[in-house]
Amino acid sequence: MSDALPYVFSAAGTYVQGAGVLDVVGPHLARLGKRALGVVDPVVRAQVEPAIQAGCASEGIAWRSEAFPGECTETLVDGLVASVRSWGPELVVAAGGGKALDTGKLVAEALGIRSAMIPTIASTDAPTSRVAVLYNEEHAQVRVARLRANPDLVVVDTAVIVRAPVRFLVAGMGDAIATWPEARTCAAKPGRTPAGGRPSRAALALAELCYRTVLTHGRQARQDAAAGRVSAAFEAIVEANTLLSGLGFESGGLAAAHSLYAGLSVLPAGAGYLHGEKVAFGVMVQAALEAWPAADRKELGDFYGDVGLPSRLSHLGLGAATE
Ligand SMILES: [Zn+2]
Repeated sequence: MSDALPYVFSAAGTYVQGAGVLDVVGPHLARLGKRALGVVDPVVRAQVEPAIQAGCASEGIAWRSEAFPGECTETLVDGLVASVRSWGPELVVAAGGGKALDTGKLVAEALGIRSAMIPTIASTDAPTSRVAVLYNEEHAQVRVARLRANPDLVVVDTAVIVRAPVRFLVAGMGDAIATWPEARTCAAKPGRTPAGGRPSRAALALAELCYRTVLTHGRQARQDAAAGRVSAAFEAIVEANTLLSGLGFESGGLAAAHSLYAGLSVLPAGAGYLHGEKVAFGVMVQAALEAWPAADRKELGDFYGDVGLPSRLSHLGLGAATE
């Protein structure tokens, strides 16, 4: 074999998206096992757990729900694994934001069982990937775990997502918009993707479609989300933020925008801002570093202005940053 890295394309097993899909989740879960362990974010428990439980009951799946206190820590994951092992779960069903999903991924990995992700916000591209971020009790990032497998199932109920604050959807667009610039740069240089190989044509095509989808439908989707409407534009953006961005970053690669995010995240002044908001600013910096054509930078700047993504440090509360 040559020394060149191979193409590696890594993806979740099945992706289901639409308004009300949670009401028909049972048959999807039944393919993964007969004993389901729930890791459900308390913020959305009342919104999603009854439908998941009903789906399990209709398929004869035993359901056991464990408390998720809100932070994805090593201690929490170890504790959950120890307390449920003897019950013998065959799959983990994680529902909520990124931290609940990452906890579910880590518990499934430790137990060697299948996993289903039910994101209730479209703010990042984490649900499809085999990456999980661990924090300590003080909410500081400890490490990024690379898992053995991608989630087996991702179920995105847009009737649930549309009830989340619009800011999450917009931040998700910021994370999504980085996908193509980063994959393109990773492909042009000898970069290794999070999936562990070179960016394939498939990943690059998804990444480019992600970028175009966000610029084409983002403004309308933002308006529709604010009005609580699950429109075609809203569905397009949820798919871009979750599926296209998720497959695109994992198999297409990361570059300056996410490096900048990592740097910004250690500054206390920016603590109140979301992952995608910081990544969006990182894309602006990457555009300057790579000397993008003026028209492309203007297109991006106009879009940021219209949807409310940060294009300056001052928009991230870092206007006074000097070092
Ligand atoms: Zn990201």
